[in-house]
Amino acid sequence: MSNEEFNAAASSVGNLSFNGSERRLKGKVAIITGGASGIGEAIVRLFTKHGAKVILADIADEAGRNLAGSLSPPATYVHCDVSKEQDVRAAVDLAMEKHGQLDIMYNNAGTIEFVAVESVAEYEMEQFDRVMSVNVRGAMLGIKHAARVMIPRKKGCIISTASVAGILGGLTPYAYTASKHAILGLTKNGAAELGKYGIRVNTVSPSGVATALLVNYNKQGNGSVVSEEDKAAVEAYCTSIGNLEGATLRAEDIAEAGLYLASDEAKYVSGHNLVVDGGFSVVNHSWK
Ligand code: NAD
Repeated sequence: MSNEEFNAAASSVGNLSFNGSERRLKGKVAIITGGASGIGEAIVRLFTKHGAKVILADIADEAGRNLAGSLSPPATYVHCDVSKEQDVRAAVDLAMEKHGQLDIMYNNAGTIEFVAVESVAEYEMEQFDRVMSVNVRGAMLGIKHAARVMIPRKKGCIISTASVAGILGGLTPYAYTASKHAILGLTKNGAAELGKYGIRVNTVSPSGVATALLVNYNKQGNGSVVSEEDKAAVEAYCTSIGNLEGATLRAEDIAEAGLYLASDEAKYVSGHNLVVDGGFSVVNHSWK
């Protein structure tokens, strides 16, 4: 191929260019699990702004309904415990019934439990099972049921929220670390199998963001309501352990990474783990 031919071919890909005001998910239908709070809420807001028809799936019914109803256009709220197959199946069926298609399945719901014991030798396996069931079984069910409706259409995009705890050991309790590593494995299998149907499967891995999950975890899992002071303290801590001077990671930054993976600009990106941590995981190996 001559230089001229190459340049002509390259410029024919010009329809992927966009400016800040363009709606990058126009006409796409997205299910976002764990969309009622934190990172999920930011994804719901950003995807709606970019023209997606959003189905917000969560177990926090009041917060989820309120958020869905406050958006323009409103999202559809569905109660969905991602660890229960009948709930995930129903959420996917709802997308098909209401919109006739599912373009984006965003497995974002997740949980972490504070572990009071000092050593794995005393680890409570019930706790392990609870976290694995939401984080791993939840992502697996999302991939399974999204694939069920995406395969016949020969297109679609599946994204899951993992974590830097999915690439590093010792940051979080055993169950959370194992669950986030497992999500990367599910993503790789999904990308390997579903590529032949034009379905892309990717992961976003954040470091610390001051959401209810992290603030409550830092308060030793007592589940109390997040105050602005708690949030500010966790935010300051997350910033202090980061490796990027002058920047604080926020839920909105994670949503932007998800937007890229969900958009047509990422049409050749599959099996990827997009780490959004300001370089934390390549430099540091501990929160401490
Ligand atoms: P968050 O607590 O603000 O939001 C989590 C949402 O998931 C809540 O709305 C909650 O109701 C929902 N949820 C919990 N269990 C569920 C279930 N069984 N079924 C459906 N929904 C359920 O926390 P967040 O920080 O926004 O967490 C979002 C994702 O980001 C999680 O997967 C989490 O592991 C991951 N993550 C968070 C951080 C962080 O520092 N906050 C870092 C890396 C990864």
